[in-house]
Formats: sequence, structure tokens, C-alpha cells
Amino acid sequence: MVPVRELDLVLSGLPGPLPWSNITPSLSAEFCVSKGQQRIMTMTTPANLTSFSIGSQQFDGAGQTITSIYPGDGSVAGVVARATPADVDRAVALAQDAYRHQPWRKLRPDQRATTLYEIGRRISVERDALTTMQMFDSGKPRKECQNMVDNAASYFRYYAAICETWQNEMTSPRGDYFSMSLAEPFGVVAAITPWNSPIMAEAQKAAPALAAGNAVILKPSEETPMLALELARICTEAGLPEGLFTALPGYGEDVGAALVAHPGVRMVSFTGGTETGRAIATVAGKRLIPVGLELGGKSPHIVFEEADLPMAMAGVISGIYGSAGQSCVAGTRLFVQRSIYREFVDELVARSRQVKVGLPDDPAAQMGPLISRAHRDRVAGYVDLARSEGGRVLCGGSAPDDPALAQGWFYLPTVIDGLQNSARACQEEIFGPVLVTIPFDDEADVIAQANDTVYGLAAGMWTRDVAKAWRVAREIEAGSIWINTYKQSHIATAFGGFKDSGIGREKGLHGLRLYSQVKSVFFGLQDKPLGL
Ligand code: NAD
Repeated sequence: MVPVRELDLVLSGLPGPLPWSNITPSLSAEFCVSKGQQRIMTMTTPANLTSFSIGSQQFDGAGQTITSIYPGDGSVAGVVARATPADVDRAVALAQDAYRHQPWRKLRPDQRATTLYEIGRRISVERDALTTMQMFDSGKPRKECQNMVDNAASYFRYYAAICETWQNEMTSPRGDYFSMSLAEPFGVVAAITPWNSPIMAEAQKAAPALAAGNAVILKPSEETPMLALELARICTEAGLPEGLFTALPGYGEDVGAALVAHPGVRMVSFTGGTETGRAIATVAGKRLIPVGLELGGKSPHIVFEEADLPMAMAGVISGIYGSAGQSCVAGTRLFVQRSIYREFVDELVARSRQVKVGLPDDPAAQMGPLISRAHRDRVAGYVDLARSEGGRVLCGGSAPDDPALAQGWFYLPTVIDGLQNSARACQEEIFGPVLVTIPFDDEADVIAQANDTVYGLAAGMWTRDVAKAWRVAREIEAGSIWINTYKQSHIATAFGGFKDSGIGREKGLHGLRLYSQVKSVFFGLQDKPLGL
């Protein structure tokens, strides 16, 4: 870690130790930390987020910038150059060249592993600085940001380890030949990510795509563009050959769309909203290029009457309020068996009122702000819609009245009952700390209601009846099912959605296969000419 060389402190009664202790100079040229509306520190350093690298050259788009806002208080967290479609052309040309002419794709997988390990190691070395940047960029609580940075490092280490042990398939001979199926890269892969898990979502795509031998162009969300640039810098510093990984901070409608449509891009890996995914898949379908789509969800979370209720309660609370509900797998539709419904929901409301909403750098905060004012308005709009559909808002339903949080985009934990599963608030992804509760009668009833959605990303259930858990798990149409736990994830366990929640699987070996195409090679061993 390189110590800060130049700090321009624009000061003002600093309330305590600076949140930055060990930041690398390259973390930002124009990166401000504010308290309330007051800017308390500006870092001025040689490396600058107001330009981005395409290979060894720096570009600043057309001089336009993207401003990252700190959701904790609405102040400026950073200013980042905004890429243009012309930058897409440059980045794709360089990536194609790197893919064809750099040895990367021809290296043995275990040789590629060396660089991937180094990227993971460097992410871990810069953990604290990346965590802080992540916190200001996304507004997520520090601990969550730290987990995301740790996970990003793990993805590189994990796919490095897979590279060490990767095997192709040999088929048993059925004549005088032998045959094998080899995993080959696609070429240039476009990775497009949302704002809710910066660096982690990016590493989840970049690590396996690079491990498989591809070149990657990453377009992060315009809401949270900063960590992607840091990841690109780290990849370069770790020795990844030029052009194999480029981060282009830009908007979806120009840079994202230009990437998907670019003839030089041979595969698209997208995480984001279902409608965006549909638009991307339409273009990719016309171009006949493969897509991996990780999309939205409206996950059912089921509590059966025989469940361990305190455990279920804790699972339901963390399942909805973690990341302030800005999680694709948030348990947003709570189904509680009718015999325990009232008692469980009353307790849930009491517990929801106790959730500590606070600034991301407050260690006591359990829930931080939403990503933007516009998003909070959208969430609030859904709560109003639920009211108009006949829903009863049992708690929350507004911003907190704590003056310390008045400048940020906070929204209280909200529980709504009285709606049918067919109501829009029960069918559409709200992506905030809003939980709808619905009673059910029996297993058949809850399976039917749980599946009555266009989404199929995840589902959870709490029960002590193992046979029932197995039956229900097999019947629910979702890519991940949690039994007596929720939001558990494993780097080696496949992740992805059924129905409108996506196509393809990330993580584990499935993640590597997503970025590979299969080539079968036959070796003739016959000693006579082939007959007609
Ligand atoms: P979004 O769909 O608005 O944007 C996602 C990304 O797509 C951004 O980088 C955006 O710039 C880009 N984009 C927008 N229009 C585009 C276009 N026409 N062509 C190419 N790129 C385009 O989603 P968001 O609001 O950033 O993220 C929230 C959504 O992401 C939620 O629906 C959430 O469920 C989903 N999500 C899914 C998963 C998963 O693994 N299934 C994980 C995280 C988030």
C-alpha cells in the first residue's frame, strides 16, 4: 500500500479520525469525502478518475463526466470521465487485438492462474481503501462493502484454482480414432453490471471470463462507476496483458448498447433489471451471440407453522432489510402459515421498527440508504401504490425523521399486509426495504402462490419437516432455494434464475462454462483409407 502523497484538506471541525488512513494515490484524483453538505477532504493525486485507460492510453470521453453521489448525504463522492461509443470502438479493437495476438488464450490454464492469483492478492492488499471507496460510491454499510471486496478477491483466487485443475473431456473410443471436447473462449466478452454490488458483481464476471481465455470489456453502472476503474488498474498492475480487461464508465443507452451491438463483441454477460436484460437479449439474439443474464426477482420467503420461529424471524428480517432491500434475491414476498400469521407478523413489525437505520460508516447501522433520490422516490411510489391497492402499511412507509439522516436517501423498514399476491406491489420488483406479507393455508396453496410470479430467482423456507422441505424445494420454480437459512451463497455453487430472472448460471464450474464454447477434436488412428 502506497501512502497518500498529497492531501488537500478543506477543513472544518473534523469530527474524528479521517475515514481514510491508507488509501492509494491512484484511488482518486477528485474524490471528496463530505460530512453533511460540508466537504471535509479532497484528495489530489496523480492518477485521475476523470480519465480512464484503454490500453496504455488515457481517455476522458468527450469531456463529459459522471458524478457519483454519496447516498449517505447526497454529496459528491467522485467525478468520473464518461465514456462514449467511440471509446467502445477503441476498446473493442484493442481487446480483439489482445485476444488474437497476446498469448493469453493460448497459455495453459495453470499459467493464466498465476495472473489471476495476483489480481486477487492485490485486491486483498487494497481492501481498506477499496472498501471505503465502495461505501461512498454505493452507500452500503462498511461491513457489507468489505464483504464485497473480499468476495471480489475470492473470485479471482477461486477461478485461478479452477484453472490449475481444469480438465477437458476425452470420449472413450468407438473406432480407430479418439475424440475430445475442449473448452475455448469466445473472444471479446462484454460484461455489464448494476449498481448494487460494485466490484463483486464485476469480479464474478471478469474472473471466470478471463480464466476461460477471453478479453473482457466491463461497463459498470453509471450510479457506481468508481470500483470498476480500480479493478482495471489492479488488473494492469498485476500483469494482465494490455487490452484484456478494459473498464468503460458510461451510460447504458450509449456505451452499454454500443457494446452489445458491436460486431467485435462475441458474448454478453449482463446483470441488471429484467427489462434491460430483455432488450439486450433481443439485440444479442439478432446477432446470434450468447448471453448470460442475471436479472430481477420477487422471491417468496415461506414460514411454516412448525418452523423454529425465532430463527425464521431473524432470517426474514435479514432477507429483506440486508442491503436495504436492494438485493436481487431479497425475500420480498413473505408467506406465513395462517395458524401463526397474526402473531408472526406482529412480532415482525415490532422487530422491523428496531432495525437501526444509519449512515454507512456508523458501525451500529444495520441498514443504510438507498442508492439515489430517484430510487427512493420509486420505492415510495410502490408503497403508495400498495396503499391504493388496499394494502395496510404496518410500519415504515416513509423516510426516517432523524435529522442526522435528512440529507441522505434513507427509507424505513416497511411491512405491508392486506394485499393479494396478484397486487402489483406483490408482483413487481421494488428493490427497497419493503416486505409484503401474505397468509397461506397449506403446502399446495403456498407452492401455487410462490410460483405465481414471472420471476424465479430464489426462494426460502423455514420448517422442521425435512420431507416437506424437499417436496416444496422441488416444486418451487427458482434458481436458488434456501431451507432454514436465507441469502446463503457459495462461490462454487451455481447461481442464476428461472423464468424472467435470467438465463445461464454464474459461480463454480458453471461460471467458467458460461464464458467458454466447446470445440470437439477428432484424431484419426486408422491404418486404412476411409471408405465412402
Ligand atoms: P439496470 O438494468 O437499470 O442497469 C444495469 C446495467 O445495464 C447498467 O450498467 C446500465 O447502464 C446498463 N444498461 C441499461 N440499459 C442498457 C442497454 N440498453 N444496453 C446495455 N446496457 C444497458 O439495473 P440496475 O438498476 O442497475 O440494477 C438493479 C437490477 O439489477 C434489479 O432488477 C436487480 O434485481 C438486478 N440484479 C440482478 C442480480 C442477479 O444476479 N440476478 C444481481 C444484482 C442485481
